[in-house]
Amino acid sequence: MEALKQKIRQEGIVLSEQVLKVDAFLNHQIDPKLMQQIGHEFAVRFRDQNITKIVTIEASGIAPAVMAGLELGVPVIFARKYQSLTLKDDLLTSKVYSFTKQTESTIAVSAKHLTADDHVLVIDDFLANGRAAKALIDVIEQAGASIAGIGVVIEKSFQAGRAELDAQGFRVESLARISSLADGAVSFLE
Ligand code: 5GP
Repeated sequence: MEALKQKIRQEGIVLSEQVLKVDAFLNHQIDPKLMQQIGHEFAVRFRDQNITKIVTIEASGIAPAVMAGLELGVPVIFARKYQSLTLKDDLLTSKVYSFTKQTESTIAVSAKHLTADDHVLVIDDFLANGRAAKALIDVIEQAGASIAGIGVVIEKSFQAGRAELDAQGFRVESLARISSLADGAVSFLE
């Protein structure tokens, strides 16, 4: 997606060979117009898949997921990273190791909102080693729901997640694919 790649070139900050900071438009300040275009692009790619729900993870997946949900006309569930007081019963949970925080946390989704009748599109902001995606897939499978695919805003193709999800047979659609963050520069795969 050209507008996204341009934004990454203009406003992305390469923190290391592994980490790209996009606080200017996705992870802290949000560019609503760009999010709308991102939602549209996910919807175009998955429109014929009979999606019934989108599942993402708080907090940075929420903006692109809501925009895609608006376009596809389906509800959006965000997995919570801790057990809140209002989210007690029938929890589907999985453990996830955070790439950026380097800590393990539990994600939880209420079984009330996800059932075996659902056909789910998973959306997240980044795909690195695929741990967040795998934890989301785990809770969706616990619900007995099926998975249409995984929509990723920014994929770092040089890390393990993409290849592993491909190998497991999941359809992965990434709107920007980064082949390298070496020498302080962002290189795109395509
Ligand atoms: P994974 O679980 O695929 O290893 O990492 C994905 C998660 O880690 C995303 O939900 C995202 O929050 C975070 N993440 C991974 N790589 C980056 C990065 O380069 N920059 C930012 N800002 N977040 C990242």
